[in-house]
Amino acid sequence: MGEPDRLSDYRRKRDFGVTPEPAAGTPSAPDGDLPRFVVQEHHARRLHWDLRLEHEGALASWAVPKGIPPDPKRNGLAVRTEDHPLEYLDFHGEIPEGSYGAGTMTIWDRGVYEVHKWRDVEVMVTLHGERVQGRYVLFHTRGKDWMIHRMDPPQDPDREPMPESLAPMLARSGDLPADQSGWGFEVKWDGVRAIGFCEGGRLRLTSRSGRDITAQYPEVRGIAEALGAREAVLDGEIVAFGEGGLPSFQVLQKRMHVAGERQVARLAKSSPVAYVVFDLLWLDGHSLMDEPYEARRAALLELGLRGSNWQVPGHHVGDGDALLAASKAQGLEGIVAKRLDCPYTPGRRSNGWIKVKNVHRTSLVVGGWLPGEGGRTGRLGALCVGFMEDGGLRYAGRVGTGYTESELLRLGRLLDPLARDTSPFSGRQPPRNARHVEPRLVCEVEFVEWTATRTLRAPSYKGIRDDVEPEDVVFDPGA
Ligand code: MN
Repeated sequence: MGEPDRLSDYRRKRDFGVTPEPAAGTPSAPDGDLPRFVVQEHHARRLHWDLRLEHEGALASWAVPKGIPPDPKRNGLAVRTEDHPLEYLDFHGEIPEGSYGAGTMTIWDRGVYEVHKWRDVEVMVTLHGERVQGRYVLFHTRGKDWMIHRMDPPQDPDREPMPESLAPMLARSGDLPADQSGWGFEVKWDGVRAIGFCEGGRLRLTSRSGRDITAQYPEVRGIAEALGAREAVLDGEIVAFGEGGLPSFQVLQKRMHVAGERQVARLAKSSPVAYVVFDLLWLDGHSLMDEPYEARRAALLELGLRGSNWQVPGHHVGDGDALLAASKAQGLEGIVAKRLDCPYTPGRRSNGWIKVKNVHRTSLVVGGWLPGEGGRTGRLGALCVGFMEDGGLRYAGRVGTGYTESELLRLGRLLDPLARDTSPFSGRQPPRNARHVEPRLVCEVEFVEWTATRTLRAPSYKGIRDDVEPEDVVFDPGA
């Protein structure tokens, strides 16, 4: 009885006239005492890592979607794939479009290993790689699915788990610092804040309020694939660009409120966004939040993140006036001054970050609306807005301009189910003919200034934002 040909699946799936992968030849003998292994990073249709262990003259192989787990706390799926020839230990290169496994393959790690157990349903090994050292077990679950588990403690004894959630650090409104030498200056991006958790080539994006918004912006997922096996928590802003390439909160509105997968996919093509990253909070098992801004910035730049839908714009040290003037000339919202020695304080508004604006913008709670007149008779004419103070909603004025026809219709649909009989405002009240609503919607407003009675002067509507909770909307004197 002859040995079954372990490599027949491997050969059947490939056209060796097209792919640069090795055709199976005569297996060579191992050069040392221990069998060899390789881990390839395979940027195929979906990024994965291929773990291949030399065993009985071929390479037993598993595709591991999130990579070799560095920590016993995180088990990973490992899908058994066809055995590969020993020549594959050295393979790296481009598998052409249309071929099986098309994409770029690089060698991520290699070395030798010890076998502790090798059964049809369980393989236990200690890897001695250039990157990975330690004992792992692979065990069969169902079909082709196995799990991979690290049995040893993390290789890095100081490794900390990645935070599961983080509230972004916030800036105060204000003027440029008098002495600018100890400060870095960045453009203020007009979009929605997003924390990006990147692990095993996968991205999870959360909003300022902690909501998962990953599905909303599929075009930025590639940033995690670009990081490969590196684990990082990023802070930045999701930005859409409008006329003249300027960030446009209005264009972003189209993206913020869409949930259906097909509609999201269509809009990702017609109104794509960029993830503008400006901070690095955690990297490869270590928090950077106690590090000064300058050090975090340097570490972020070192990651070399640059793609069609993500970018790391520079910061300017020491000359805020020049950047503020340039931002004004370009029609940008403003800049943010960040103290070079400032740590990252999640969820806190810090004196170490100051937003300096060319235009005044703020978020306000919608507490009612006024019927329109003239062309808008019978429809919404203005929103009555306010901010939270002493546990109540304080009236801050009416916003009667800035609406498109379609936005008026959408607001009508949003406000109808929120109708109530009594005013949600405490103290000063909107005009008598106002219709009252539950204070659940938060809108973004551009305005000229706050009056002495803390009322908006010449406000204009910019959009609804669902990343800010009504209870977090307070009076921002410098907004
Ligand atoms: Mn593969």
